[in-house]
Amino acid sequence: MTDTKSRMKKIPSIKLGGIRYKLKYSKNPINPEEPDKSLDGLINFSDSTIIINSRLSGQCELQTILHELVHAFFVSIGIRDFDESLIDGLAYQLIGAIRDNPELFRKIIKLGK
Ligand SMILES: [Zn+2]
Repeated sequence: MTDTKSRMKKIPSIKLGGIRYKLKYSKNPINPEEPDKSLDGLINFSDSTIIINSRLSGQCELQTILHELVHAFFVSIGIRDFDESLIDGLAYQLIGAIRDNPELFRKIIKLGK
C-alpha cells in the first residue's frame, strides 16, 4: 500500500456525539500524566482536541485518529478504564469495516440528507 501522507489533506476536526474535536498536530505529543512516554495521539476531553503525532505516515495518522475516536466512544458511554490494545483493535476493525464496505457507509452517510 502506498503512503498517502503527501496527497492527504489534513482533517481539521471530527464530530462525535455532538462534540466537535479539533485536530492538532505535534512532533511529540505528550500525556502530562506519563511525560516519558512517546505517543502517536492523544485526546483531550477538557478542551475537545485531538493531538496527532505529525511524524506518522498517512495510514498511521488515520488509524490514530480512529483510535482516539474509539476512546471518545468509550468515554461517551461512561467507560474510562480500558486496555489500549482493545482500543487499537477496535480502531483497526473500524478501518477494515469502512474500507471493506464502502457501499454500506455511503448509504449511511446519505441517510437523512
Ligand atoms: Zn489510546
